Amino acid sequence: MKEIYLDNNATTKVDEAVFEEMRPYFCEMYGNPSSMHFFGGQVQRKVDEARGRVAALLGASPDEIVFTACGTESDNAAIRSALEVFPDRRHVITSRVEHPAVLTQCRNLIQKGYRVSEIGVDGEGRLDMEELKAIVDEDTAIVSLMWANNETGVIFPVEEAAAIAKAKGALFHSDAVQAVGKIPINMANSRIDMLSLSGHKLHAPKGIGVLYLRRGTPFRPFMVGGHQEKSRRAGTENAAAIIALGKACELAGLNMELENTQVMALRDRLQNELMARIPNARINGGGAERLPNTTSIAYEYVEGEAILLLLSELGVCASSGSACTSGSLEPSHVLRAMGVPFTCAHGSIRFSLSRYTTAEEIDTVIRELPPIIERLRRMSPFGREFLKGQG
Ligand SMILES: *Cc1c(COP(=O)(O)O)cnc(C)c1O
Repeated sequence: MKEIYLDNNATTKVDEAVFEEMRPYFCEMYGNPSSMHFFGGQVQRKVDEARGRVAALLGASPDEIVFTACGTESDNAAIRSALEVFPDRRHVITSRVEHPAVLTQCRNLIQKGYRVSEIGVDGEGRLDMEELKAIVDEDTAIVSLMWANNETGVIFPVEEAAAIAKAKGALFHSDAVQAVGKIPINMANSRIDMLSLSGHKLHAPKGIGVLYLRRGTPFRPFMVGGHQEKSRRAGTENAAAIIALGKACELAGLNMELENTQVMALRDRLQNELMARIPNARINGGGAERLPNTTSIAYEYVEGEAILLLLSELGVCASSGSACTSGSLEPSHVLRAMGVPFTCAHGSIRFSLSRYTTAEEIDTVIRELPPIIERLRRMSPFGREFLKGQG
């Protein structure tokens, strides 16, 4: 069975060209980039090239790019650093819909005596900017807000939020893991101090991330040891993965147009056809500005996990809006923060496309999903009542 992979916000296929770019750096050019000899030097030059490519995608300068092990590490490093450089500031601001990489860390800070504020969102997943304005103060060390939401694709006005944070002297960090490569980002004219990205969300391998650090931003490293990454992140560079990420960023820049035309057209067709064919459905965040590749649709009276299992039997890979990884049947914190009604929140399915998604794959989902939803609704007591009401 050939998979129909529509779970690209969870992870992506490594682009073949990216894999070819990194391949020689395992068994042939395996030198340590810090070594004095030519054998390390040739790796160092490729790492420098990769740094330039990442910087180019972000509109940043190469010395502002710090390679890390993943998006999670970048998020952790940014927040920890801010608290160390501002020991007198005891307040951290984030949002209720962040990725666990930010949210878990912020919630742990409460036990350490920090004040943590989680900004709310409206029914469409839009950030409450008034709340942010009201609570940021001279005690705030850092404001950390995601650029785009992994579950709904909703985009936050991070530049505006950064200006609000900076006005009170706080640092501003954005988890841009879902935004980089999908929508234009230009750090050159930005107020954002720190930004996280992750290779495996943009067709590079898992286990490589970046922390963008604006020149002049005070920073205390999370990992200490050797002098790699200008002492901002110790540990021998994951050279092959860094080289891969450089290539992936170059390709992302070249393919951005495709992402915003072809990928978005397929996403819109999927979304519109499903909405036309399946009653009592709602697009989570449909009224907000969103990533071009993501759609999350809530179906009343059904369980997301059941939909996913039946889709999976047909080879279709998607994701539910439930915290299913924890084995919990609670709807996701993102949908709860949006106030998605109980009857819907359990039946939310996220499709996330990539430049590899084809029209045939989308047609398959448009054909297969409506009968699955109807079947499940017939099996559930609430769903049966609902179908009866429909005649
Ligand atoms: C995937 C993801 C992360 C975590 O990145 P890893 O490289 O898997 O640690 C963080 N934030 C968001 C929004 C993500 O989608």
